[in-house]
Formats: sequence, structure tokens, C-alpha cells
Amino acid sequence: MLLTIGAAPNDIVTSNGYTIQNCGIFASHVQKALSNLHNVLQPAIWDTHYGVASAPYQAFFKSSFYETFVGHALSSISIGSAVRLDDTEELVTPNLVCALKPGIVMVYEAGQVFDIYDLCKTNPTWVVLYYPGTSTIFICPYFFLMPTVPAAGNCPVVNETTNQFEGDLNAFWKSQVYMLLHEIVHFYLGATVEMSANEIVDWNYAYSLPARDATLNAFNYVLYVACIDKECTNYPQADRPQSPQGRRLGSVLDLLNTSSTGIQGSQGSGVSPFHTDAMNTTLSQQNSTFRR
Ligand SMILES: [Zn+2]
Repeated sequence: MLLTIGAAPNDIVTSNGYTIQNCGIFASHVQKALSNLHNVLQPAIWDTHYGVASAPYQAFFKSSFYETFVGHALSSISIGSAVRLDDTEELVTPNLVCALKPGIVMVYEAGQVFDIYDLCKTNPTWVVLYYPGTSTIFICPYFFLMPTVPAAGNCPVVNETTNQFEGDLNAFWKSQVYMLLHEIVHFYLGATVEMSANEIVDWNYAYSLPARDATLNAFNYVLYVACIDKECTNYPQADRPQSPQGRRLGSVLDLLNTSSTGIQGSQGSGVSPFHTDAMNTTLSQQNSTFRR
């Protein structure tokens, strides 16, 4: 992947290990989002030391065996630690690139060219995009219209009969801080594991994952951090099975690795190289060219 940013080469600011590029007057907003992220991560990092004695840790990571892994990932995210993306010697840190105007932020991949702004505009539900295998996370204009942090409250409740989470998942997490966290988790997990082809953004799905899968699912980290930040107290009972039909409640199919005619073939399989997280439960008309 070759990235070019056509204007304002000096439009670069930093925040801990993070680089924020091409964001203009919005650079301070991204810095603030990273600052909010740092703040919500601190109690979660502390909580990992309790392992399964912590109710949210038990709910989203299941085994104390992984508490060091989870704690390390969250610590890395809070300061933007450098990591190796592959077997090369090069250490990289996340690079947040704003695409606020057409024709500026261009990606060249396998003979194709993508204008990131166009991708944002064509898919208004895309807010933050991660290009797997790289250190680049793109920020769409819509990001700046989102709440900086989610509204207070909106913790899930647990249905006694189904032993499932219920509630308004979007109200619970949709915000700059958690959209950013989700994609940054992909960057840090991507340094070590393959990304799954179909990611399901749903709290009952996240809860249902066995420990190892949970630690490799980006949304589990989002839910864990948000539940601690919001001091949520209701979790399914670990010693009771969940009823399967409840799993569809609040379910959102992530637009992970969706494809369009415009970017088909970029990986030879019709799969888009971009990862993002849908804002809505339904695909808009404009998304009809994208494969779910
Ligand atoms: Zn994701």
C-alpha cells in the first residue's frame, strides 16, 4: 500500500506515540479524542489485574490467563507504543490521517487508486477506516459530527430468562473515543494475528466468545473499556447458558472487509482492503455496491 497526502506536508501533530496528519483545524479535536481515550483506558488497564474476579473482565475475556495480554494491549493503545507489524525490524506507531477534502489522501494498491474522501462520502456510515497490515488509520469527516464520548448511562441490562444482554448498543458506545479505540485495537492486534473476515459487532456475540477468540476480537476491548468507564454492573451469569435466539438482539454486521466495484480486485478476491465499523444497523442505498 502506497499512501500519498497531496497537501499541507507540514500538517502533522503528535500525541504520545500517535501521529495526526492532514487534520487542519481539526487536529486538536483528534488530540482531544486521544486524550479522552487515554483517560477511559486507565481504569480498564488497572482492572485487568483482577482477571476473572472482575465482572467485566470475566464477561469479555473469560480467562485470567490473558490478563497480561489484554493489559499490555490497552497500555500500548493508551500511549501509542511502537510495534513491529511483521518480521521486519521496523517499529511503527499508529498514524491517524484525516481525509476531509477530495483528491488529497490517496491510496495506491495493486494498480488501483482510492481517494479516501470518496470512500467516506460514498459510505456515510464509515467514520474511521483502518488499512490492515499498515499503521494507517483514516478519519472521515463524519467523525467530527459524532459525540466525543458516549452519553452517560445506557449500560446493558441482562434478561433473566435468556441470560442475554439487552439495551441500546449504539447509544452505549457510538462516539469518537470508542470508534477510534475499535480501529486502534485492530492495529495492535493486527500486529500479531489475522483479522477475521466477518466481524460481528454485538455484545452477546462478544460475550459468547471463548477466551482466546475474545482476546482477538476488537469489539470485546471496546465493550470491556466502556463497561468499566460507565461502571456497568449487569452481566450474564457465567454458569448459565445463553439462549441462542437472543444473540440477534442489537446485532450489527460489521462492514469489515466489504467490497465495492470500485475497489474490487485490489486483493484479487473482491475484498476491500479497508476495515471500518458501520454506524447503522442497516445498509444505506449508497452501500448497495458493497458486499456485506
Ligand atoms: Zn472492527
